[in-house]
Amino acid sequence: MNYNVNEKGYYGEFGGAYIPEMLYPNVEELRQNYLKVMAEPDFQKEFQQLLKDYVGRPSPLYLAKRLSEKYNTKIYLKREDLNHTGAHKINNTIGQILMAKRLGKSRIIAETGAGQHGVATATVCALMGLECIVYMGEIDIARQAPNVARMKMLGATVIPALSGSRTLKDATNEAIRDWINNPVNTHYIIGSAIGPHPYPDMVTRFQSIISEEIKWQLKEHEGRENPDYVVACIGGGSNAAGTYYHFLHEESVKIIAVEAAGLGVDSGESAATSILGKEGIIHGCKTLLMQTKDGQITEPYSISAGLDYPGVGPMHAHLCKTGRAEFMSITDDEAMKSGLELSKLEGIIPAIESSHALAIFDKKKFKEDDIVVVNLSGRGDKDLDTYINYFKL
Ligand SMILES: *Cc1c(COP(=O)(O)O)cnc(C)c1O
Repeated sequence: MNYNVNEKGYYGEFGGAYIPEMLYPNVEELRQNYLKVMAEPDFQKEFQQLLKDYVGRPSPLYLAKRLSEKYNTKIYLKREDLNHTGAHKINNTIGQILMAKRLGKSRIIAETGAGQHGVATATVCALMGLECIVYMGEIDIARQAPNVARMKMLGATVIPALSGSRTLKDATNEAIRDWINNPVNTHYIIGSAIGPHPYPDMVTRFQSIISEEIKWQLKEHEGRENPDYVVACIGGGSNAAGTYYHFLHEESVKIIAVEAAGLGVDSGESAATSILGKEGIIHGCKTLLMQTKDGQITEPYSISAGLDYPGVGPMHAHLCKTGRAEFMSITDDEAMKSGLELSKLEGIIPAIESSHALAIFDKKKFKEDDIVVVNLSGRGDKDLDTYINYFKL
């Protein structure tokens, strides 16, 4: 079984590029060039240098002793929360800004929901001195004032999407419209392992630094490269794709994908796509997607903004369908409890997205000598208000 993308841009039956004809030249230019550009020694040198000096990589692989004792298994945390800007998203935006420069683009566009990807994009545009336009739903702009302020400080222009529900999908529509109108000088930075081919594969390759590091770091700690389990939360699926990448074809490594159940899988307020989703097309690719009987995208819900997405990337749809990954869903309450637990046991306040991945230890029993690597995708600073309101701190 192949879990990587094939030459046609598919993971099994998922993926592809379902795009309006007017977008074809933009996506085709990227498709023809992305692997070539990424293979250039000069590109790799600049990418690796920035990951080291700007992002602060390698991120530590930390043996969480007190957490391990509590659950009677060996738990390592991959500390993406320690990256510059506080999460894994910067790995991808650094890669894509370098790609954009090599392709001669001077203008960057992006869409953002909660603002995390917008901030990561505005950051690398400031770093490279490129014009940055971020589309964001009007409702989200009102809800996410600190991230809007960050983007503005970083020099980005934030344009409100005023149509539809005035949230993420409307911002995406605006970004696509912009790209159609500016095919020559503009690159569209997508923030997760989603979108038309080659985006899911390109984003996965940029994020694969996570599992590349886990391998040599675990070898240092344990004398072996492969853990028994790798665990990550899934919104669109970029931190998970990066965490799994170098283990996809290692049969001894089991893969666990953690989705947000929101108020409960059957509550109508959920984002558990692997259970609630059916095959459909979103953001230019065929994947699993939460939708009504007549194919309208269902509004997802999760307490964590990063997991509040109605689909999963096509790689994950394939991992789910083939059974290569075990999918688990975690409710708001379970995630919040685990976020507080990690804070108290290890002195690490996690992003609520990452708290979902940590919550599996209450639901699944591991062996004492199992080595379980959990990707800690981000830090909790951005979620402090949510923690305050939830725990009445
Ligand atoms: C955005 C985000 C996620 C979800 O995005 P993926 O593409 O699924 O990784 C998870 N954790 C954090 C901290 C995030 O900011």
